[in-house]
Formats: sequence, structure tokens, C-alpha cells
Amino acid sequence: MIISGSVKETREQVKEWKRKGLRVGFVPTMGYLHEGHQSLMEAAKKENDRVVASIFVNPIQFGPNEDFASYPRDFEKDAALCESVGVDLVFHPKADEMYKEGFCTYVDMDGLTKELCGKSRPTHFRGVQTVVSKLFHIIPADRAYFGQKDAQQLAVIKKMARDLSMDIEIVGCPIIREADGLAKSSRNTYLNAEERQAALALSRGLAEGRKLVEAGEREAAKVKRAIEVEIEKEKLAKVDYVEVVDFADIMPLADLSAAKEGEVLCAVAVYIGKTRLIDNFIWKAGQ
Ligand code: AMP
Repeated sequence: MIISGSVKETREQVKEWKRKGLRVGFVPTMGYLHEGHQSLMEAAKKENDRVVASIFVNPIQFGPNEDFASYPRDFEKDAALCESVGVDLVFHPKADEMYKEGFCTYVDMDGLTKELCGKSRPTHFRGVQTVVSKLFHIIPADRAYFGQKDAQQLAVIKKMARDLSMDIEIVGCPIIREADGLAKSSRNTYLNAEERQAALALSRGLAEGRKLVEAGEREAAKVKRAIEVEIEKEKLAKVDYVEVVDFADIMPLADLSAAKEGEVLCAVAVYIGKTRLIDNFIWKAGQ
């Protein structure tokens, strides 16, 4: 496995694979890898001849009072996981390799980024779109893999790739969970034992919502309320948002039957102590 911190070296290696006619899959991450990331790498491995993973804690997607400095990092362990899955190249740049002095060009979007996480993290998606665009230029892959765990991010990246005519297929992958239902996340490491238990409020709340929808409820307000009521039973939980949106444009829905492409995203962000966790489910009309 090649490990490179260099934009030039990484781009040349990927181009060489492309010249040979090999298909390249790409998995962007911020490291501190777990089975969620691993599932993306395994999907990429199955569908491509070469797999590139990036490990980069992207400073510009964190707000001023967010956890950039304390975000967990363990490159040795991450590299070992990548190697065990059969990743061919790990791109692990330093911040100044990605953002040279004077950097001032950003990718942004009018739609999709204003709701859900965009409300409490107003510059987050601009940072995500900018770094992902840069990574797509550095790593000209055929396919890139993103988790539904960050459903709004997945929708934003799909839209960005379409709007900017990027020559890459965006593949969404299912949420990987702990045995008790908690969605795996690098940020779960912030939770103490009591908070870890309390964090189950997210998946429990979503399960209540899903039950209602599957029983035929189509009024978004009722689904939202059921999710909120369940989450608020947990004393350590403080809801940032509970939303029901159209997955196609991330706009709030009043009626679940009205989703343009038939996919409804029920998403939550909840503070457990100081840690902000997100989770969601997607309901497809006709299910
Ligand atoms: P991150 O390192 O948190 O930026 O995540 C990198 C990629 O892994 C993103 O596409 C995430 O959506 C995905 N991911 C993170 N956690 C999970 C999970 N529990 N299941 C599936 N994908 C995940």
C-alpha cells in the first residue's frame, strides 16, 4: 500500500492506473476509522480495480467553536485498517499541502445546504464541497463512496457532481451501527459511559418515527413529534433538530407522499452532553 502526503505524487499514481484502463474507487474520510468507513472501502474494493482512501481532517469544514483541534486522530491504526481491507493508496496530506498560503477559492451551493446541519453549521458544507472538489481533482477516480450516515452531505455531493458536470459516480452506502443501534461515528469516542447509553436516544427516536411511517402515517409533523418525544425521554439529550425533508432537495416536507423522487429523509441532530451526534433513516415511497 502506498502512503502519500503529496498532491502531485498521488495524482500521478492515479493517472497511471487510469492510463492502464483500471477502474479507481475513492473513499474520502477524516480518519479515526471504524467499520462504517471500512464498509465504504469494501464496497469500493468490490466495484473497482484500485482503491484510494484519503485521511484528512479538513479545517475549513469546522466552525470556530467546533471540535477541529480535538477531533480524534490515529494515523498508524487507520493505515493498518486500510491495508487490511486492501486499499492501494492512502492520501494523507498536511493542511498546508491542501491549502497553500493565500487560498481563497470555495465551492458553494444555493440549495440543499440551508436546512438540517446547515442551520447550526452555516459554513460546514462550503468546507465539505471545497475539499471534496479538490480531492476529486487530485484523485480522478471513477467512483466515490459516501455514507448515508451523513445523508445531507451525500445529497450535497451528488448534486454538486451533477451541477458541475464532474466525471465521477457518487455511490451512497448504508449506515453501519453498533449492536445496540448507535450509528458508528468517530465522535462516539467523546462519550463517557453514561453518555454512551444516552446516545441510544437517537436510534430509538428514529425507530419510533419509522414505525409510524410504516403504519401509514404521512403527516410529517406527527412523525417529527413522535421522534422528538422519544428522544426527549432521555435527560442527557438536547435536540438540535428533528426534520423530515425531501431527500432530493433537502427541503422540509409537510406530507411524506410529496417527495419528488419518492425518497424521504428523517434526520436528527442531538447533543449528548457536549457531543453533537447525527442519525437518520430514508423512507422510500411504496415501501
Ligand atoms: P468522516 O470520516 O466522518 O468524514 O466520514 C467519512 C465517510 O464515512 C463519510 O462518507 C461518512 O458518511 C462515512 N461514514 C461515517 N460513519 C459511517 C457509518 N456509521 N456508516 C456508514 N458510513 C459512515
